[in-house]
Formats: sequence, structure tokens, C-alpha cells
Amino acid sequence: MSRKGYFSYVRVSTQRQGTLGTSLDEQQAAIERYAERFNLRIIKQFEERETAAKLGRPVFLDMLKALRRGKAEGLIIHKIDRSARNLKDWADLGSLIDRGVEVHFANESLDLNSRGGRLSADIQAVVAADYIRNLREETKKGIYGRLRQGLFPFPARPGYLDAGKGKPKRIDPVQGPLVKMAFETYASGKYGLNTLVERMYELGLRNKRNKKISRNGLTCILKNPFYMGVIRIAKTGQVFVGSHEPIVSKSLFRDVQNVFAGKRLPKTHKHFFAYRRLISCAGCRNFLIAEIQKNHIYYRCQSRSCPQKTIREELIEKRILDAFEKLRLTDHEHSLLEKYAREYQKEAPERLNEAKKLLEIELSQIENKLAKLADAYVEGVFDKDTFLSKKNEAIIRKEEIVEKLESLNIEQTDNLQDFHEFLELLKTASLSYKLGTLSEKRELVQIIFSNCEAEGKSLKIKMKKPFQTVLDRDRFPAGRPRQATPRKIVAWVKKVLFEACPDGYFVRSSRQLD
Ligand SMILES: [Zn+2]
Repeated sequence: MSRKGYFSYVRVSTQRQGTLGTSLDEQQAAIERYAERFNLRIIKQFEERETAAKLGRPVFLDMLKALRRGKAEGLIIHKIDRSARNLKDWADLGSLIDRGVEVHFANESLDLNSRGGRLSADIQAVVAADYIRNLREETKKGIYGRLRQGLFPFPARPGYLDAGKGKPKRIDPVQGPLVKMAFETYASGKYGLNTLVERMYELGLRNKRNKKISRNGLTCILKNPFYMGVIRIAKTGQVFVGSHEPIVSKSLFRDVQNVFAGKRLPKTHKHFFAYRRLISCAGCRNFLIAEIQKNHIYYRCQSRSCPQKTIREELIEKRILDAFEKLRLTDHEHSLLEKYAREYQKEAPERLNEAKKLLEIELSQIENKLAKLADAYVEGVFDKDTFLSKKNEAIIRKEEIVEKLESLNIEQTDNLQDFHEFLELLKTASLSYKLGTLSEKRELVQIIFSNCEAEGKSLKIKMKKPFQTVLDRDRFPAGRPRQATPRKIVAWVKKVLFEACPDGYFVRSSRQLD
């Protein structure tokens, strides 16, 4: 039946052969008997002889490689004992089985054609799968552990040198200054990328293989916040504060990003004012107007009588950053929010039904109301205008409810996606703000702030709903001071959660018609 045939694999440890293990010949014979019984054709035999000098299992690994390439239908193996050191073999076999490779065991206790044998193999596959999972988690832990310590767990980028595991990268004394020069030159806006590549090559900038750094490579360098001291994992977008010495300042890095984004630099005439029409005056409520004076940007209230003086952009940024930093959750807060979010989600179908019921009740009330309105008008209780405005009001609300009901019937109950994005934003807001281009900064402020007023040198910031509640954590709720803290924090967590997913089928009929 099988087209390709099977591999056989035997292993013997020469140190204990003859006493504990089964000899190669015995294993081989058992495999052959098994193959004959089930009509499996052996096309290649693999033998592993482990000696004290040569540890590991090179033959096994070669065989796995061939199996992965589809060189055989499957594998017949004598047995692999479940000692800790062989768990890796189980893991490898488990992944082969996942790829559709047949794995047979020639020793009688593991006949895959019997139920017991299958069960045993399944259990071992589970053990193997668990082992793989654990292995992955361990490596992840390793990487994330190091990232959290500010260490970059990958080879050094150009301009830096590896200083060994557990140590921050150090600046390459030759390439480091050249990288810095590349940033400065690009920030000046005088050269395009192609010219910069050639120029930097002439000056001696090289990659790790001592070759010219391509346009692509240089772009990666110029966009990598690692050079200003921040580790960003491109795949996940996560950022960590690095413990290595930066090559460029944050403002130089930002200038370079602005050049990439096509933004002009402060020296040029036209300027992109990040906080244009975002900051108002606490005195007169007008927006502050941006202006440049002696290379600094100021925001000024134009009202003559207003006591509000100018406020410098750097100061505005500092205040905003302070506010964003307060959004960052503690691990405890974060895990509590996660926990309640999961519970909240569990109840979503129930809440959905409740919401629908409430809306339906309100709908019938409105219809009732509409009928009564008509009667009241006919009876002359109020004039035509009053009647029409009351009728309109009711009809608009009715349409809203119908629309809402329709959407509730379509919408999925999984609304946690948004919530996780929200949690991520809390975590990264301050750093994203710090690293962002001018337009990204502006966008963040627009997303998070509902109002921002300048009063002298300070800013009165009001954030949008879930964000403001996050900030208000300390005074939430104003309960008895002796009351246990958990209760307080739970109330806070719930409020944040409800505000962050207002449509988490926590719909209340917000407007009541009298
Ligand atoms: Zn004013």
C-alpha cells in the first residue's frame, strides 16, 4: 500500500549495552518482525551508537530531516524510553506526527493498531506536545525576561558590538560615530537616501560582514529607535527601554523621522504645529495660536484682555507626557482588568439578551406614547407645534432603537479585541508619544484627550472616558477609608471596563421619554 516505505531507527548506548539496554541486533529483529506483520517495507535503517565521548543523537536528527522532507511514509522505532533526556525525542516525534508522518513502535507494548497502543502513543504525544509548549514558553520567557531588563537578545545592529549574554550592547568605536553622522546628515535634509548610502560608504560605514550598507539597510537603521536607547520588537510593536548607551539623542531621532514623514524641519518657513487647535486658553476658552520665536515654538492666547501668557511647546510636551505616564497600569491593575474582562465576556450573551429586552420594552412604550400624543392633540391638550415636536422626538428615538436592535442581532459577542487594544494603548501611550513624529503625537492627543486648557505654565487635561477613569483610580470610589482596598479597585476596574466597551452589550436605555 505505502508508496515510499519506512525508515527504521535503533539506538544503543555503548556504556550500558548488554546490561540495561536492548542490543542493536535485538532491536533490529523486533522492528523487522513488526514490519513483516503489518506489511511495512523498510527502505533505510538508521543506527545510533551513543558513546561517552560522542553525546547527542546526530543520526536521529538526520533521520528527522529526511522525514520532514517526505523521504519516507513513516518510521518504525523500537522504543524510546521516557527518561527526561529523551523527552526531546518525543517532542520531535510529536511534531512529525502532526505533519502526517506515521510513527510505529515495534515493542509489543506500543502497537499503534491496538487501542491500548494508540492510547499510550497519544499520551506520549501529549507529553511531547506539552514539552514543546513548555520549551517555547521557556525561550519566550528568556527573550522577554531580557527585554524587560533592557537587553537586546539578538545580534548587535550596525554601530554596536555584542558584549556577551546578559550585557547591554556597547557602541562600536568606529562604526558608532559613523551611524550618528548618518542620522545627522539625513536630518539636515540635504541628501536623499541614495546619496547618503554612497557618502556613508565612502566615510567607512559598514555592516557586520564588512560590506556596504544598502539603502534598505540604512533605512532600517534610521528608523530603528534602538539608536536612541529604545528596543522595539517590530513584529509585535512592543517597546522596551534599553539599558545600552544611545548613539543619537531623542530629538535627533525625531528629526530624522520627521524627514521620513515628509515634514519640514523647524528652521524652514512652513511649520507643522503639532498642537494647533488642540490647546485652549483657560481664561477665555479660545484656542492658543502657535508661533515661532528664536527657534522655539510658543502657544499664545490672542485675546487682548486675557491674562494667559505664552506657553512653550517643550513645556506642553512635558505636561502631556506626564499625563500619559499616569495611564500606565501596574501589573496588578492590568491582571485585574484582564480577569474581569474575561468574566465580562462570559456574560456577554446574557447581557445581549437583556439589552434587547430593554430596547424592546422601550420600543413598545414609544409606540404607546405616539398613540397617546395623537389622542391628546385631537383633544386639544396642546397645539400643533408642540404636538409635532413631541412626535418627532419620539419617532427619532424609535428609529434609533430599531437600528440598535438590528445591530445587536448581527454583532458578534466577542468584544474583547477592542479592550485589549485599549490596554495596549495604556501601556504604550507615553512611550509612543515620546518616540512619535509630530503628527503621531497630535493623533495620540486627539485619541486620548477630550479637553486641554493652558493656565499659566500648566495644562488642565481632561481625558476621554475610559482614560479619565484610569487616571481617577486614586479617588475611586469615595468610599469609607477603612474599607478594604480590593473592593475599591474592583469598582474601578468595572467602571474602566464598561467605559472601554460601551457596546459590550451593557446597553442601557439612556434616554427616557416622559
Ligand atoms: Zn485667553
